[in-house]
Amino acid sequence: MKQEIDSRMETIAALEPSSMTPDTVISDSKPPIETDAVIIGAGPVGLFQVFELGLLEIKAHIIDSLAAVGGQCVELYPDKPIYDIPAVPICTGQELTNNLLKQIEPFGPTFHLGQEVTVVERREDGRFNLETSAGTRFITKTIFIAAGVGSFQPRTLKVEGIESFENSQVLFQGKNLVICGGGDSALDWALNLAGKAESVILLHRREEFRAAPASVAKMKALCDNYEMQLVIGQVTGMEANENKLSEIKVTGADGVTRRLPLDMLLVFFGLSPKLGPIAEWGLDIERRQLKVVNTEKFETNVPGIFAVGDINTYPGKKKLILSGFHEAALAAFGAAPYIFPDKKIHMQYTTTSPKLHKILGVETPVFD
Ligand code: FAD
Repeated sequence: MKQEIDSRMETIAALEPSSMTPDTVISDSKPPIETDAVIIGAGPVGLFQVFELGLLEIKAHIIDSLAAVGGQCVELYPDKPIYDIPAVPICTGQELTNNLLKQIEPFGPTFHLGQEVTVVERREDGRFNLETSAGTRFITKTIFIAAGVGSFQPRTLKVEGIESFENSQVLFQGKNLVICGGGDSALDWALNLAGKAESVILLHRREEFRAAPASVAKMKALCDNYEMQLVIGQVTGMEANENKLSEIKVTGADGVTRRLPLDMLLVFFGLSPKLGPIAEWGLDIERRQLKVVNTEKFETNVPGIFAVGDINTYPGKKKLILSGFHEAALAAFGAAPYIFPDKKIHMQYTTTSPKLHKILGVETPVFD
């Protein structure tokens, strides 16, 4: 729960400053990691890219701005069934991700989670410098951008001036809290803090909730016991006192605006995707997607940088997981000459190739 809360907590505005969210630490002291391949994005396609590179004996580092792997499958529909993964009649977004993680186990990729790739630049020696928001640096021969619809960013409250109170504190005891949102994160926080904080008000714009029905029922029971309060309405204004947020104004469906005094405001409005720094790396972009030069290798206009999955565009593109898997296979073959310039790469079957069996750590079957 703690990890989920950390990764989902989007805005905290409060009365007192605090050091809960450390500033990003950019450290030059660690040497850059030298590698053959870096994958940006640990959604289903980024994960499968590890597999396809692994079969060609290319080890990869994989980076995601989120704290968990799985991309849209885990962030947007972990429990919903998917029916169009070849030979898997039905699986949920989370199950697909778990299976992909199992499938790439033999290749031991290194995960760098909770950090956004911010810098990609070509070096004089032809390789790339790559840097993340956490200051992790890489020197890599190839890059696979599997960034989907971009990195997910917290949706924030649209009230003028609220930004100056963001990320300011998290000591809940004895505080009057207002928690905004109708999803699982908002409900989890409200249920957890009811009884611990001085008061908890859950504020949601409508009567229906996206959260698990059991959590909604628990919340309603706590409200019936006067242990917390539910308010339906939209935040339309705020008041500050000596640089501290002191109350928000909430307009209900009846058109009446009421004042909610508070010590802390916690906002859980979910995530929205943003192309972000990718737009600044000199890549051809068409309607927020990366154009690939051809569908033989899925390479971008920058040699050595490949784009796979939802982030890319080409004639006939379909944003489906199975299309991304195909693209990952071809991109791996397309990248191999950058990594092994003197080696001829042959396609082999995992069923029959003893070499691939060795790579996968499995026994070669004996056929009669
Ligand atoms: P994503 O899953 O979007 O993952 C990209 C990852 O890259 C994200 O985790 C993001 O945080 C990370 N990232 C982005 N930018 C950066 C950066 N700069 N630094 C670090 N990390 C970064 N498809 C199907 O085939 N079948 C279905 O039934 C199906 N159902 C769906 C249902 C819903 C509700 C939705 C929303 C989508 C569905 N899809 C389905 C589409 C499918 O989920 C996508 O095609 C798939 O997730 C694309 O995978 P991806 O790996 O390319 O990108």
